[in-house]
Amino acid sequence: MTEIRLILGDQLSPCHSWFDHVDPNTIYVLMEVRQETDYVRHHAQKIIAIFAAMRDFARRLRDIGHRVEYLAIDDPANLQSLTANLDKLIAQQGATHLSWQAPDEWRLDQQLADYAAGLMIPARMVDSEHFLSARDEAATQFAGRKQWLMESFYRRMRQRHDLLMDGSGRPVSGQWNFDADNRKPWAGAPPEPSDPRPHHDHSELWQTIMASGVDSFGTPHHRDFRWPLNRDEALVMLDGFVRHALPRFGDFQDAMHSKATHLFHSLLSFALNVKMLRPREVIDAAVAAFQTGHAPLAAVEGFVRQILGWREYIRGVYWARMPHYAEVNHFGHTTPLPGWFWTGKTKLRCVAHALGQSLDGAHAHHIQRLMVIGNFALLVGLDPQELHRWYLGVYIDAFEWVELPNTLGMSQYADGGALATKPYVSSAAYIDRMSNYCRGCHYDRKARISDDACPFNALYWDFFDRNQPMLVANHRLGMTFRQLEKMGEETRRAIKQRAAYIRDHLNDV
Ligand SMILES: Cc1cc2nc3c(=O)[nH]c(=O)nc-3n(C[C@H](O)[C@H](O)[C@H](O)COP(=O)(O)OP(=O)(O)OC[C@H]3O[C@@H](n4cnc5c(N)ncnc54)[C@H](O)[C@@H]3O)c2cc1C
Ligand code: SF4
Repeated sequence: MTEIRLILGDQLSPCHSWFDHVDPNTIYVLMEVRQETDYVRHHAQKIIAIFAAMRDFARRLRDIGHRVEYLAIDDPANLQSLTANLDKLIAQQGATHLSWQAPDEWRLDQQLADYAAGLMIPARMVDSEHFLSARDEAATQFAGRKQWLMESFYRRMRQRHDLLMDGSGRPVSGQWNFDADNRKPWAGAPPEPSDPRPHHDHSELWQTIMASGVDSFGTPHHRDFRWPLNRDEALVMLDGFVRHALPRFGDFQDAMHSKATHLFHSLLSFALNVKMLRPREVIDAAVAAFQTGHAPLAAVEGFVRQILGWREYIRGVYWARMPHYAEVNHFGHTTPLPGWFWTGKTKLRCVAHALGQSLDGAHAHHIQRLMVIGNFALLVGLDPQELHRWYLGVYIDAFEWVELPNTLGMSQYADGGALATKPYVSSAAYIDRMSNYCRGCHYDRKARISDDACPFNALYWDFFDRNQPMLVANHRLGMTFRQLEKMGEETRRAIKQRAAYIRDHLNDV
């Protein structure tokens, strides 16, 4: 018997039970294919990072004695599709069985299931042994409910996994959630910890990718490449994060600053999403820092909530709502993305910084993605599906299962509030409170309708004005609508005009 085991580019976990034993009758297959580089236009760093990590993974498997077939992007034998390559390999190797780990993306799940159904040899999917909840866990918990509250999912996960619990079913210290404590701006102190990521030179790989005709955007930084290639490097990053950044993670979780990139965030999302790291070990490292007194509970709880709560919950929402989730557009927004999404060249200082950082480094932290880029996109009415493709392409950690619900659900409210309890939008006041962007901006953060008024201000009120029928019943927005009423007809008309002007001149803002 010869078994082929397919390993996808985001399944680079050496801890999977597949690798417990070396078996000469098992062939591990990894392939760099145009099918995966071309389904959306990707940031150059994302393509380099995944290919480099796959190559490293294959080399390590070979080093410990496993049989590996690796198809590089420029290999003349590469048919550039997963299934065409599998057909060929099964025939060449005389394979009698095929296995693959559960894909995280609906697209690949369907493709492999359909392919297996038509095969003449036995084929089966195995667990990826990565997540802390089942694909259908959120769907089961929230069956019949209109709104799926992350907080109740998270509390159940805390109880089930006995994390930060006091042993009698209560959270440690009696409080479940320290979100309200985690909203401090950052004014330059304490200093941002140094970037914990490794350095690599991927010039040769980048040449190969370009010569193969793969389209991409963003700065490759191939000569000084900063993303981890393997589990060892990811573990060093985890250790650095826990030592130097975690104690302040909570305080500055929502802060932004023109002179900072990652602040006290972990930069671990790529390593987690390609499964170099297991979520449970990342959580355990953070909880141990609390138990030894190295990091305060508010910081550790805030961090654990992101991984045990948000990450698992988002995945549950994805599997429950695909494939129609990809098409949701609650507000019927259709405005194309302005050209500066690809250059970062806009006079909106906050947006320019968040976009510039994304294009340069393939990363921006959560509040930049949500309350700067996503906020502006929703206020101005950008086409959510086009925006989703941009987010899916630009970020190093973007895989559809996690990117799509975050973009369409959390950020764009395109699912009508299944995921977010209200639209995540703000005027300049929030951005000014949480960053230093507004001082030094071309626009006046306090003005609403003058020519130099911050566009967020008119767009914010116009958003609620034009979507009043769809949002007025939301009890969390009562105060917003009361403020809007108090403005009077003339002010509202002026706001509308200013918002319409911004929308008509989007490429010039
Ligand atoms: C519009 C939008 C798009 C996003 N797209 C992605 C994406 O494609 N891939 C992705 O991994 N995250 C995405 N996020 C969530 C979040 O922004 C990133 O996980 C985070 O910025 C990664 O940086 P970090 O590792 O330094 O995170 P940290 O702030 O250090 O957080 C620790 C970990 O928590 C997890 N996490 C935090 N927030 C979320 C969340 N909302 N959903 C899922 N996991 C979360 C991540 O694994 C992250 O590594 C998106 C958020 C928004 C608003
Ligand atoms: S004034 Fe407006 S556009 Fe400028 S940085 Fe502040 S919020 Fe952004």
